[in-house]
Amino acid sequence: MKIALVKGDGIGPDIVNEAVKVLDATAAKYNFEVTYEEAIAGGCAIDKFGEPLPQKSLDICKASDSVILGAVGGPKWDNVESNLRPEKALLGLRSGMNLFCNLRPAIMYPQLKGACPLKDEIVANGLDIMVVRELTGGIYFGKRGRDDNSAYDTLEYSIPEIERIVKKSFEIAMVRDKKLTSVDKANILNSSQLWRSVVERMAKDYPEVTVNHLYVDNAAMQLVRDPNQFDTIVTTNMFGDILSDEASQITGSIGMLPSASLGKGTLGMYEPIHGSAPDIAGMDLANPIATVLSVAMMLRYSFKMEKEAKAIENAVGKVLDDGFRTGDIFEEGMKKVGTKEMGDLIAAAI
Ligand code: NAD
Repeated sequence: MKIALVKGDGIGPDIVNEAVKVLDATAAKYNFEVTYEEAIAGGCAIDKFGEPLPQKSLDICKASDSVILGAVGGPKWDNVESNLRPEKALLGLRSGMNLFCNLRPAIMYPQLKGACPLKDEIVANGLDIMVVRELTGGIYFGKRGRDDNSAYDTLEYSIPEIERIVKKSFEIAMVRDKKLTSVDKANILNSSQLWRSVVERMAKDYPEVTVNHLYVDNAAMQLVRDPNQFDTIVTTNMFGDILSDEASQITGSIGMLPSASLGKGTLGMYEPIHGSAPDIAGMDLANPIATVLSVAMMLRYSFKMEKEAKAIENAVGKVLDDGFRTGDIFEEGMKKVGTKEMGDLIAAAI
C-alpha cells in the first residue's frame, strides 16, 4: 500500500512517526508492504511555499491509497488572513479528495474509565458510539454573505448528497449493532425534512437495521443522559461537528480518539481528533495513540484488513493493561512514558 503522510505542524510529526512505526510492525507481522511519501500541508507549507495546501501535496495524496494526517495549525499562523490559514489545508484535502463522510468513533477505554466525566452508573458498560458526519455539504459550504448590517449562511442539501452519506451510515450500522439514529431538526428546517424522508426511504433496503430519528437538541441531551442508547449516529455537517465533539468528550479521552474521512472509493484520510498541541510539540510528551488507532481505522475501512486493524487495537489495549501511560492520561500508580516509548511498546505488542 502506498501511504501519503501529512505530518503537519506542532505534535503532528511526533505522532505520525509513531503511527508509521506501528504500521511497519503490523506489515512485518502480517506480511504486507507499505511505502510512504510525505506531503507538506498546514502552517509548515505556508512557511515554505506561501500556501497551506500546495497542489503538489494534494496530488501526492490523491495518487496514494490512503492518507495519514497528524494535525495542522498553531499560534504562529493565527493572525494570517483567512484564506491562508493552516486549517484551509484540511478543507482542501477533504474536498480535493471528495471525502464526504467523516467517521468519529467515541469509545471509552475501560482502563481509562476514571477520565469519563459522567457518573459511573451511566457508563458502567463502557461506551462505543460511531458518529457519521456529512463532511462536504450543508451550511459550511453554502452561499454566504455579509454587509455592514447583516450576514447570512445557507444550508442546502441535495438528494444525492444525502443518499451517499446515509448509505455509508447503513453499511457501518450493519457491521456494528445494526442500530442507526438519524439526527436532524425536521420540526423546523426544510433540509432536515428532506434528510429524514431519504433516511426513511433507504431504511427499506436495510430491514435488519433499527432506525430512529431525533431532533438535534434532544440528541445533544440524550448523549449525556444515556449515551448507551446510541450505536451509529448519522447527521449533517454542522450537527455532526458539534455532536461528535460532545460524544468524544464524554469518553474523557480526547487524546485517544481517531477519525476517518471517506469518499466513494478506498481512498481515505485518517487522523486523530485532537489538534496540533503546540504547547508540547517536539518534547516527546504527545500521546500517539489516537494516531495509531487512526491507522487501525485505515486498515479496516480503506483496505478491509479487519484482522490487522484488530491487532493494532488489541496492542493498544495490552499496553494500557500493562499500565503504561503518556502524561495526558497518567494516573497515580501507572508507568509514565514518552511519545516514542509508547510507539515502541505498541509496535512490540503487535
Ligand atoms: P489541541 O487539541 O491541539 O490541544 C488542546 C490541549 O490538549 C492542549 O493542552 C494539548 O497539549 C493537549 N493535547 C492535544 N493532543 C494531545 C496529545 N496527543 N497528547 C497529549 N496532549 C494533547 O487543541 P487547541 O489547543 O485548541 O489547538 C491547537 C492548534 O491545533 C490550533 O492551531 C488549532 O487550530 C489546531 N487544530 C488542528 C486540528 C487538526 O489539524 N485536525 C484540530 C483541532 C485544532
